[in-house]
Amino acid sequence: MESQSFIKGSSIKAVKEFIVKHGGDESYQKVIDGMSADSRSVIGNKSILSSTWYPMDVYVDFLKSVKNVLGKDNKIILYETGSYIIEYGYNAFYKLFYRFGSPQFILKNSKYLWSSYFKPSRLTVVKTTETSALLRVEGEPLPDKVLCESTAGGMEQSAKLSGAKNIKIQETQCRVTGSPYCEYDITWEL
Ligand SMILES: [Zn+2]
Repeated sequence: MESQSFIKGSSIKAVKEFIVKHGGDESYQKVIDGMSADSRSVIGNKSILSSTWYPMDVYVDFLKSVKNVLGKDNKIILYETGSYIIEYGYNAFYKLFYRFGSPQFILKNSKYLWSSYFKPSRLTVVKTTETSALLRVEGEPLPDKVLCESTAGGMEQSAKLSGAKNIKIQETQCRVTGSPYCEYDITWEL
Protein backbone atom coordinates (compact mmCIF):
# COMPACT_ATOMS: atom_id res chain seq x y z
CA MET A 1 0.00 0.00 0.00
CA GLU A 2 1.36 3.39 -0.98
CA SER A 3 1.41 5.85 1.90
CA GLN A 4 0.57 9.47 1.13
CA SER A 5 1.86 10.96 4.32
CA PHE A 6 5.19 10.63 6.01
CA ILE A 7 7.04 10.98 9.28
CA LYS A 8 10.73 11.66 9.87
CA GLY A 9 12.87 8.74 11.03
CA SER A 10 14.04 10.65 14.10
CA SER A 11 10.55 10.15 15.59
CA ILE A 12 10.74 6.40 15.09
CA LYS A 13 14.22 6.33 16.63
CA ALA A 14 12.93 8.29 19.63
CA VAL A 15 9.99 5.92 20.13
CA LYS A 16 12.34 2.94 19.92
CA GLU A 17 14.62 4.48 22.57
CA PHE A 18 11.59 5.21 24.76
CA ILE A 19 10.35 1.61 24.58
CA VAL A 20 13.78 0.12 25.32
CA LYS A 21 14.23 2.52 28.27
CA HIS A 22 10.91 1.49 29.77
CA GLY A 23 10.58 -2.16 28.89
CA GLY A 24 13.97 -3.27 27.61
CA ASP A 25 14.86 -4.94 24.33
CA GLU A 26 12.29 -7.62 25.06
CA SER A 27 9.43 -5.11 24.91
CA TYR A 28 10.76 -3.61 21.72
CA GLN A 29 10.83 -7.06 20.14
CA LYS A 30 7.20 -7.59 21.21
CA VAL A 31 6.25 -4.27 19.60
CA ILE A 32 7.97 -5.29 16.37
CA ASP A 33 6.33 -8.73 16.45
CA GLY A 34 2.94 -7.07 16.93
CA MET A 35 3.15 -5.13 13.65
CA SER A 36 2.04 -6.30 10.22
CA ALA A 37 4.56 -8.09 8.02
CA ASP A 38 4.59 -5.05 5.70
CA SER A 39 5.50 -2.70 8.55
CA ARG A 40 8.10 -5.11 9.88
CA SER A 41 9.78 -5.15 6.48
CA VAL A 42 10.21 -1.36 6.73
CA ILE A 43 11.28 -0.78 10.35
CA GLY A 44 11.52 -4.15 12.09
CA ASN A 45 15.05 -4.89 13.31
CA LYS A 46 16.57 -2.42 10.89
CA SER A 47 18.54 0.66 11.72
CA ILE A 48 16.31 3.70 11.46
CA LEU A 49 17.71 6.73 9.66
CA SER A 50 16.92 10.03 11.37
CA SER A 51 16.60 12.14 8.25
CA THR A 52 14.67 9.64 6.11
CA TRP A 53 10.91 9.99 5.60
CA TYR A 54 8.95 6.86 6.54
CA PRO A 55 5.37 6.01 5.52
CA MET A 56 2.80 7.19 8.04
CA ASP A 57 0.81 3.94 7.93
CA VAL A 58 3.90 2.07 9.14
CA TYR A 59 4.30 4.57 11.98
CA VAL A 60 0.62 4.25 12.96
CA ASP A 61 0.99 0.47 13.01
CA PHE A 62 4.08 0.93 15.21
CA LEU A 63 2.23 3.19 17.69
CA LYS A 64 -0.74 0.80 17.84
CA SER A 65 1.63 -2.01 18.70
CA VAL A 66 3.26 0.16 21.41
CA LYS A 67 -0.19 0.72 22.87
CA ASN A 68 -0.99 -3.02 22.78
CA VAL A 69 2.29 -4.04 24.39
CA LEU A 70 2.78 -1.28 26.97
CA GLY A 71 -0.63 0.36 27.27
CA LYS A 72 -2.37 -2.14 29.49
CA ASP A 73 -0.65 -0.86 32.63
CA ASN A 74 -0.29 2.69 31.39
CA LYS A 75 -3.26 4.42 29.77
CA ILE A 76 -1.19 7.45 28.73
CA ILE A 77 1.62 5.53 27.06
CA LEU A 78 1.17 7.29 23.69
CA TYR A 79 1.00 10.69 25.36
CA GLU A 80 4.32 9.85 27.03
CA THR A 81 5.67 8.61 23.72
CA GLY A 82 4.92 11.96 22.04
CA SER A 83 6.48 13.77 24.93
CA TYR A 84 9.64 11.67 24.58
CA ILE A 85 9.89 12.42 20.84
CA ILE A 86 10.07 16.13 21.61
CA GLU A 87 12.58 15.61 24.44
CA TYR A 88 14.72 13.47 22.12
CA GLY A 89 14.60 16.14 19.41
CA TYR A 90 15.43 18.79 21.99
CA ASN A 91 18.56 16.94 23.11
CA ALA A 92 19.62 16.04 19.59
CA PHE A 93 18.79 19.11 17.49
CA TYR A 94 16.64 21.85 18.94
CA LYS A 95 18.19 23.11 22.20
CA LEU A 96 18.90 26.53 20.76
CA PHE A 97 15.39 26.83 19.41
CA TYR A 98 13.98 26.49 22.92
CA ARG A 99 16.64 28.33 24.87
CA PHE A 100 15.59 31.86 24.04
CA GLY A 101 11.86 31.47 23.65
CA SER A 102 8.91 32.03 25.95
CA PRO A 103 6.21 29.33 25.78
CA GLN A 104 4.16 31.69 23.60
CA PHE A 105 7.07 32.19 21.18
CA ILE A 106 7.81 28.47 21.01
CA LEU A 107 4.20 27.44 20.37
CA LYS A 108 3.78 30.23 17.83
CA ASN A 109 6.74 28.77 15.94
CA SER A 110 5.84 25.14 16.48
CA LYS A 111 4.58 24.97 12.88
CA TYR A 112 8.23 24.86 11.76
CA LEU A 113 8.97 22.07 14.21
CA TRP A 114 5.87 20.25 12.98
CA SER A 115 6.95 20.35 9.34
CA SER A 116 10.35 18.96 10.26
CA TYR A 117 8.57 15.83 11.54
CA PHE A 118 5.51 15.44 9.29
CA LYS A 119 4.51 15.87 5.67
CA PRO A 120 2.18 16.89 4.13
CA SER A 121 0.10 17.65 7.24
CA ARG A 122 0.58 21.08 8.74
CA LEU A 123 0.20 22.81 12.07
CA THR A 124 -1.66 26.11 12.10
CA VAL A 125 -1.43 28.51 15.00
CA VAL A 126 -4.96 29.89 15.46
CA LYS A 127 -4.06 32.18 18.35
CA THR A 128 -1.71 32.55 21.28
CA THR A 129 -1.56 34.59 24.46
CA GLU A 130 1.17 34.67 27.13
CA THR A 131 -0.45 31.68 28.80
CA SER A 132 -2.41 29.87 26.10
CA ALA A 133 -2.33 28.59 22.55
CA LEU A 134 -4.87 27.18 20.12
CA LEU A 135 -3.27 24.92 17.51
CA ARG A 136 -4.74 23.04 14.56
CA VAL A 137 -3.45 20.06 12.63
CA GLU A 138 -4.83 19.54 9.14
CA GLY A 139 -3.98 18.63 5.58
CA GLU A 140 -3.48 14.88 5.40
CA PRO A 141 -5.70 11.84 4.94
CA LEU A 142 -7.67 10.86 8.02
CA PRO A 143 -5.32 10.34 10.96
CA ASP A 144 -5.55 7.58 13.52
CA LYS A 145 -6.35 8.42 17.14
CA VAL A 146 -2.94 7.07 18.21
CA LEU A 147 -1.37 10.01 16.37
CA CYS A 148 -3.63 12.53 18.12
CA GLU A 149 -2.69 11.12 21.53
CA SER A 150 1.03 11.30 20.88
CA THR A 151 0.68 14.78 19.34
CA ALA A 152 -0.91 16.07 22.56
CA GLY A 153 2.02 14.68 24.56
CA GLY A 154 4.49 16.35 22.21
CA MET A 155 2.77 19.72 22.51
CA GLU A 156 2.81 19.53 26.30
CA GLN A 157 6.51 18.70 26.30
CA SER A 158 7.22 21.60 23.94
CA ALA A 159 5.50 23.98 26.34
CA LYS A 160 7.36 22.45 29.30
CA LEU A 161 10.79 22.78 27.65
CA SER A 162 10.14 26.47 27.07
CA GLY A 163 9.39 27.03 30.76
CA ALA A 164 5.61 26.67 31.02
CA LYS A 165 4.21 25.25 34.27
CA ASN A 166 0.97 23.50 35.19
CA ILE A 167 0.20 22.79 31.54
CA LYS A 168 -3.24 21.62 30.54
CA ILE A 169 -3.97 20.35 27.06
CA GLN A 170 -7.16 19.17 25.46
CA GLU A 171 -7.93 18.05 21.94
CA THR A 172 -11.25 19.84 21.52
CA GLN A 173 -11.90 18.91 17.87
CA CYS A 174 -10.71 15.82 16.07
CA ARG A 175 -10.73 14.60 12.46
CA VAL A 176 -11.30 11.06 13.71
CA THR A 177 -14.73 12.15 14.97
CA GLY A 178 -15.65 14.20 11.90
CA SER A 179 -14.10 17.63 12.38
CA PRO A 180 -12.15 19.04 9.40
CA TYR A 181 -9.08 19.47 11.66
CA CYS A 182 -7.70 18.40 15.03
CA GLU A 183 -7.64 21.33 17.41
CA TYR A 184 -5.61 21.50 20.60
CA ASP A 185 -6.35 23.95 23.38
CA ILE A 186 -3.31 24.48 25.62
CA THR A 187 -3.08 26.62 28.76
CA TRP A 188 -0.20 27.05 31.22
CA GLU A 189 1.19 29.20 33.98
CA LEU A 190 4.46 31.12 33.85
ZN1 LIG B 1 -7.39 14.20 16.31
